[in-house]
Amino acid sequence: MKLVTIDDGLTYETASPDRFTQAYRDGQTALERGEDTDNVLKKHVIKGEFASAAGYLHGLAADARKRLPQHSDDCPCRRCVYDREALMRSIYRTWREATAA
Ligand SMILES: [Zn+2]
Repeated sequence: MKLVTIDDGLTYETASPDRFTQAYRDGQTALERGEDTDNVLKKHVIKGEFASAAGYLHGLAADARKRLPQHSDDCPCRRCVYDREALMRSIYRTWREATAA
């Protein structure tokens, strides 16, 4: 098995990096091209091209992750809470400076 790094920084293990990468890109654009993804995947598997099948699936997953909804204004995740607190501190600092002047 070899390691292959895709341009979004993720690393995968595959027996065939070229095939994997090509299929990954196909998977990433499959939805916007209106491709029949089940059919493409089946073809890879039937031909025994498992590196392509894996790449295609990972490409599909990468595209799906990109399409996840944005975090809401009151999202309770740690990242959003931190960002909101930082914003409040910055607003408070600006207000203090304005009233001190
Ligand atoms: Zn969030």
